[in-house]
Amino acid sequence: MTHLSLNRRWRPRSFDEVTRQEHVTRTLRNAVSQGRVAQAYLFGGQRGTGKTTMARLLGMCLNCQAHDAPTPDPCGRCESCRAIAAGTSPDVIELDAASNRGIDEIRALQENVRLSPMSGRYKVYIIDEAHQMTKDAYNAFLKTLEEPPAHVVFVLATTEPERILPTVRSRCQRFDFRPIPEPDLVERLRTVAAAEGFKVTDELLAHIARKADGSVRDALGLLEQCVAFAGESPTVEDFLTVTGGVDRAALRRLAEAVRERRAAEAIGLVDEMVRTGRDVGAVCGGLITYLRDLFLTKLHRSAAAGDGPAPDGESPDTASAAGRDSELDPAAEEWSQTELLTLLDALARAEAEMKYSPQPRLVLEMTLLALCLEADGRPADAAERPPGGPTPPRGRPAAPGNKGRPAPETGP
Ligand SMILES: [Zn+2]
Repeated sequence: MTHLSLNRRWRPRSFDEVTRQEHVTRTLRNAVSQGRVAQAYLFGGQRGTGKTTMARLLGMCLNCQAHDAPTPDPCGRCESCRAIAAGTSPDVIELDAASNRGIDEIRALQENVRLSPMSGRYKVYIIDEAHQMTKDAYNAFLKTLEEPPAHVVFVLATTEPERILPTVRSRCQRFDFRPIPEPDLVERLRTVAAAEGFKVTDELLAHIARKADGSVRDALGLLEQCVAFAGESPTVEDFLTVTGGVDRAALRRLAEAVRERRAAEAIGLVDEMVRTGRDVGAVCGGLITYLRDLFLTKLHRSAAAGDGPAPDGESPDTASAAGRDSELDPAAEEWSQTELLTLLDALARAEAEMKYSPQPRLVLEMTLLALCLEADGRPADAAERPPGGPTPPRGRPAAPGNKGRPAPETGP
């Protein structure tokens, strides 16, 4: 028996099973039921957000044999539906533009496009990584796109829609696929794990969802890796071993040691993580992610309290995901925005430098030491606080302008 990956086994067979992307499913459903399917679609979005899955679903809608005409609810069981799901349908053709990017492949496609469908009503061409096609190939493809036969639907899927030629882009109906928010990834993982008989904790699923960064495919792949490594009851520790990741509790201790300027403890924690097999880049990256989540939690809470703007550049989904992470709430309270920004700024620079340094660990340690020792001019308001002492009163806005200068007098 062939072993199918979790991702392939759990690929949605109907629009209802697709995680999020309601803006796409609703429009496609309507288009199919009203007979107004476009001849070319452009699906843009990061990897693992369901672009190819959605394209296959569209193929099922158009060619399902259980219905006499295209249907928004394909049966998922007829020969056509099953062949499309398995990627073996002669009428739903998937091309990977990364490996078929030249003019010859496009000429072959042009020939093929004219032929009638083998068994279905439509031929659907799914062109993956469409931005990888060469310019010549695009120009040839454009001719086909200008006057496609009525039985043909093109779906261009790409992680970089802006790199598609504007003349091609303008002939496509475009959908932008959104990264899947962490709570939805957790829900999807929970469903799959339960059906597969895996015993998993919420904490493990949260770790996987965070690492998957909006991608269902990555989330299921990580779950599968954990199970392959540790059997059907993988733990967070197994996950961290498999991914070389760093435990959030350890990151929290490290961040707090730096904030409280306990330099020896901070260096000791880094040493401990590296000795237990953690990659030093992952320590730095993990620390950045942790501090960023704290920052988002703070912003989200102050926006919710009505005393600040909503976080810029963050979708409401991300902000609410961070806001829902109740584990972060008490920790976020202990930090000022200025403290978080100072650390994030220094660590982001360290991370960039570490990529090219022969001694990345030294770069991280020096950065942490500098932060502990105030060598880089820590904002004065953070310096007022005695180590381990009480939190200074809130409400004073972060004042980047006073960097390096004495703190302004506050009223009695
Ligand atoms: Zn069917």
